Amino acid sequence: MKILSIVGVRPNFVKVAPLHRAFLAYPSIESKIIHTGQHHDAVMSDVFFDQFHLPQPDHYLNIQSGSATRQTADILEKFEPVLQREQPDWVVVVGDVTSTQACALAASQHGVRVAHVEAGLRSGDRQMPEERNRIVTDALADLLFVTEKAGCDNLRREGVAADKIKLVGNVMIDSLVQYRAKASALNTVEALGLTAKEYVLLTMHRPFNVDTEAGLSRLLQVVKNMAALRPVVFPVHPRTRANLIQFGLFGALATRLNVHLLEPLGYLEFINLMENAALVITDSGGVQEETTYLRVPCLTFRPSTERPITIDCGTNQLVADLSPDTAGQMAAEILAGRTNTGKTPPLWDGKTAERIAHIISQFS
Ligand code: UDP
Repeated sequence: MKILSIVGVRPNFVKVAPLHRAFLAYPSIESKIIHTGQHHDAVMSDVFFDQFHLPQPDHYLNIQSGSATRQTADILEKFEPVLQREQPDWVVVVGDVTSTQACALAASQHGVRVAHVEAGLRSGDRQMPEERNRIVTDALADLLFVTEKAGCDNLRREGVAADKIKLVGNVMIDSLVQYRAKASALNTVEALGLTAKEYVLLTMHRPFNVDTEAGLSRLLQVVKNMAALRPVVFPVHPRTRANLIQFGLFGALATRLNVHLLEPLGYLEFINLMENAALVITDSGGVQEETTYLRVPCLTFRPSTERPITIDCGTNQLVADLSPDTAGQMAAEILAGRTNTGKTPPLWDGKTAERIAHIISQFS
C-alpha cells in the first residue's frame, strides 16, 4: 500500500512526523512525503525536517506565494502529475490549511482515497479560512481521524457516515510526548536571561488579528498590557512581521521595554519556552492543545475555538471579546495563581499515529 502524506506549513510537520514514522513500521506500507512549499524557508520549514529527522520530501511542489485561491490553483496543477506518477492508495492530509484542502480535492478527483487527520473541528466561524478548509476537506475525506469527541459530533451532524469517523486522539501530542525530554534539556529560557514561570509567551498570526491595522493595534496593546505584568517573549510569525512592517508598527513593538521579539523558533526551543512559561497567550490552534497537555495556562485571543476540549478539560480560556484590557485582567488573575491545571484529554497519549497507521493498514 502506498501512502502520500502532505505537508505545507509549520504545524503540518509536527503532525506528519509521527505519522510517517508509524507508517514505516508496517512493511506493507510505502510512505512518501509531499511538500507543497506553502512554508518554504529555514525557520518555518527546514528546522522541522532537521529536528524531527524527517527525510527530504519525495516531491516538492514549489508553489508560489499568493492568495489562497492562487495557491489552491497552483497546488491542483502541480499535485496532479505527482498523483499520476505515484498512483497512491491513500493521500493523508492534516489540519486546516490551503495545502490540506487543495491536495484533498486533487486526490479525490484522481480517485484516490483521502484520510483527514484532525477532522471534525469546527469554530462555527466561516470567515476564517481554516474553517472553510476544514469543511471542504471533511466533505471529501474517506476516513476522518478526530482528536476530540466534539469533532465526531460535528461530523455526525453534517451527515458523515459513522464508519468513516475514528476518534483516535491527537498526533500533535504524539510529537510533544516524543520530544518533550529533548526540549526540556535545552537552556532556551536562561539564554534569553529569563526565569522559568516568570514570563509570558505570546504568538499571534491569524488574519483577523494581524492583517488589519485595527487588529495589529490591538495586538500592540495586548503586548503592552502583558509587559506591564511580566517579561513577554514573542516569536513573530512571518505574516505578522510583514504586516507590522507594512503598517509602520514594527518599530513601536521592537523598542518596547520588557519584550523579547524573536524570529519564529524551532520546535524544541518553542516547546522549552512553552513548558516553562507562566502563561501563554496565542491565537494558534496547536498551541491551545500543547498548553493543555503541558498544563500551562493559556489565553486564546479569539472569539471562538474549534478545540473546545482545551477549555472544558484543559487550561485554555478564550478572550472572546478581543479586548486587550480583558486579556490583561485575565492574565493578572492567572499570574496571581487563580487558574486550574486541567486534565489530559482522552487518547492524547502519544500513540495516535500508531492507531491511525493500524486503521489504514486494515484497508486493502
Ligand atoms: N511552533 C514552533 N515555533 C514557534 C511557534 C510555534 O515550533 O515559534 C510550533 C508549536 O509548538 C506548534 C506549531 O508550531 O507545534 C503550531 O503552529 P502554528 O501556531 O503556526 O499553527 P496553527 O496550530 O495555528 O495552525
